Amino acid sequence: MVLIYNTLTREKEALKPIKKGVVSLYTCGPTVYNYAHMGNLRTYIFEDVLQRTLVRDGYKVKRAMNITDVGHLTSDADEGEDKLEIGAKREGKSPREVAKFYTKKFLADLAALNVIKPAKILPATKTIPEQIEIIQLLEQKGFTYIGNKAIYFDTAKLSDYGKLSGQKLDEKKAGARGEVIQDPDKRHPADFALWFFLKGHYENHLLHWPSPWGEGFPGWHIECSAISRKLLGQPFDIHTGGVDHIGTHHTNEIAQSEAAYGTSLANYWMHGEFLTVDQNRMGKSVGNFITLADLEKRQVDPLAYRYFVLGAHYRSPLNFTWEAVEGAQRSLKNLRRMIAVLKASKNTGVNNLGAATDLYRKFSEALNDDLNTPRALAVLWKTVKSESIPAKTKLKFLMDFDKVLGLNMKKTPPIVRMPKNITKLVQERELFRRNKQFVQSDSLRKEISGLGYSIDDTPLGPFVYQSSCPRKKNPAN
Ligand code: AMP
Ligand code: ZN
Repeated sequence: MVLIYNTLTREKEALKPIKKGVVSLYTCGPTVYNYAHMGNLRTYIFEDVLQRTLVRDGYKVKRAMNITDVGHLTSDADEGEDKLEIGAKREGKSPREVAKFYTKKFLADLAALNVIKPAKILPATKTIPEQIEIIQLLEQKGFTYIGNKAIYFDTAKLSDYGKLSGQKLDEKKAGARGEVIQDPDKRHPADFALWFFLKGHYENHLLHWPSPWGEGFPGWHIECSAISRKLLGQPFDIHTGGVDHIGTHHTNEIAQSEAAYGTSLANYWMHGEFLTVDQNRMGKSVGNFITLADLEKRQVDPLAYRYFVLGAHYRSPLNFTWEAVEGAQRSLKNLRRMIAVLKASKNTGVNNLGAATDLYRKFSEALNDDLNTPRALAVLWKTVKSESIPAKTKLKFLMDFDKVLGLNMKKTPPIVRMPKNITKLVQERELFRRNKQFVQSDSLRKEISGLGYSIDDTPLGPFVYQSSCPRKKNPAN
């Protein structure tokens, strides 16, 4: 049984998919006007762990994601400029060229982080007819009104608008007042644009399509309603995104999809907490963002970042510091070295089947308890260090755990074939070290080092490598 925290009910619930054995999962994709930052990527790692956990539990996962390549304005309250047009101006390209470039970069980032690419991905600009169809339905059912700038969704027509965040419409009004300049034609600050007209501020908007309301372009939220419905049907099982989407984007997706079709949009809503810098949200608009290229410049392996992310529960904020990420890199490196030692070691150890199955069960329980990755990592380390489980069994378990953790544990540093004299010195040194005769063991370390070999002591024994081995090129090795 998989327990997941449902933002909609504010409870941990047992997952009951609509179709037995199959989970339909929708993820809000990136707005492709710039590189993804490590905060965005934290959310995609959480969603990847969700998918991998479900697959490990035997579910077939049908996964879909959009790419926002039009209509996401600088303010979620339908004001400001389209982010894609900002990107286009900045780079002297067309919005489509910008979208193509950053979509490619985003997918490369996912691959580097070992995030499984969602099976179905659709950009907003490829589903304009489907989006128009929903707006037409909403119009027929009386959920819209036309202002000077756009056709709006009339939130007052829905008694349960705001059920996802638990925010009442009045509170939203109070919150929004003064924060952004509102279109005077909007009846309520929470009302949101479904389709913008090529008028006023948007007269020269580069991307536009014909519609029953004239040339224009879609509001941001409608794409996810159209794409999820097209690819997964309605309702589908789980909808995910970052916590910033709860109050506006996901609330509006629910409003328009449910008003148009009279059924719920998704049964479970899961939201990942922010990655922060100095306790402030990392954001493209905040200007404090770090990308995967920045990490690689500092020789941080993308999977070390994945390890760092797994160390926190997805519903807890996580603060980014270089020290913490580099610490994660050291831990991952240690883990890989221990796995290398395990691979090389004889299959000795007390074959305590009880202890082994207990750890295996605990690992599964941690993940099935609302994706508790910190607990799962703790079980992983217990398994590695356990004295009751033979090496082969450990390795089997670790490779299974890696199906979810995605740390590429198979990739271990090479075991060096050591000349006999080095092996002898290493063994002698290990004896001294175990007997706490550190002066002697240090002196042997120096001797070994003089012969071109280095030693890292792991709880499983010494890991020896040639000092000139290429580990510096890839520090996680
Ligand atoms: P965007 O490209 O802005 O549409 O965001 C892509 C994904 O990243 C969404 O699921 C956002 O909720 C999420 N996101 C944005 N900022 C952060 C952050 N600082 N930490 C974690 N997730 C974030
Ligand atoms: Zn969305």
